[in-house]
Amino acid sequence: MIKVQALNKWYDSYHALRDIHLTVKKGERIVICGPSGSGKSTLIRCINQLEKHQSGSLMVFGEQVDDTPKSLLALRKQVGMCFQSFNLFPHLTVLENCVLPQTTNLGMSEDAAIETALSLLEKVKIQEQANKYPNQLSGGQQQRVAIARALSMKPKIMLFDEPTSALDPEMIAEVLDVMTDLAREGMTMICVTHEMGFARKVADRVIFMDQGQIIEENHPEVFFSNPESPRTRKFLDQLIQH
Ligand code: ADP
Repeated sequence: MIKVQALNKWYDSYHALRDIHLTVKKGERIVICGPSGSGKSTLIRCINQLEKHQSGSLMVFGEQVDDTPKSLLALRKQVGMCFQSFNLFPHLTVLENCVLPQTTNLGMSEDAAIETALSLLEKVKIQEQANKYPNQLSGGQQQRVAIARALSMKPKIMLFDEPTSALDPEMIAEVLDVMTDLAREGMTMICVTHEMGFARKVADRVIFMDQGQIIEENHPEVFFSNPESPRTRKFLDQLIQH
């Protein structure tokens, strides 16, 4: 579904991603972790071209991704994304947030879009809040709406960029539960997260990044119990101490 080869990204002179190789198959659940500033967010933002890479290749569904409008439109239809900061439209209700992408991007009728939106809001267990505005909801509720909105585009891949890191502890579980359900249903997912319980439970592969590079990728059992790289080991030790 995704093939990244020798991808490099600079912010001016800062080399943020160094020679990244990554292949994601249909139905795979990948967790990316690593210290702050290691390039995790940049990598998933490059995958859906919110950031542009300067060298290397990115293929999604066998198609080379470039910055032509046609390529970007195809990409946005296949790849959904949820951000740390939810990014809901504040002036639209929860329901409208989930209807608008369907009517504007998928060309669906208003009625069909409402029906889909309501069923997705039910799926993320928030249908009773459909007529509220985002600022009337808790952070965990807003993130669940953001997930429903992303799903309303019927993506084949979901990218999550630290979806729970802005949330209070009691709200983290409700978002992770929704993500776990999605994974169980077979959604292909790449999740940047430090929720290692989620990684153990859900991931097929855990990737550790440091200083713009992929240092290690392994099945969670090996990754957590017997990491290959001393840098991974150090990172996991620090996580446990916190
Ligand atoms: P992570 O998600 O692992 O915390 P990021 O991908 O956000 O890391 O950032 C990687 C590096 O790139 C950091 O040093 C960060 O300061 C830098 N960076 C990220 N976004 C930008 C930007 N828009 N302009 C300049 N530098 C950036």
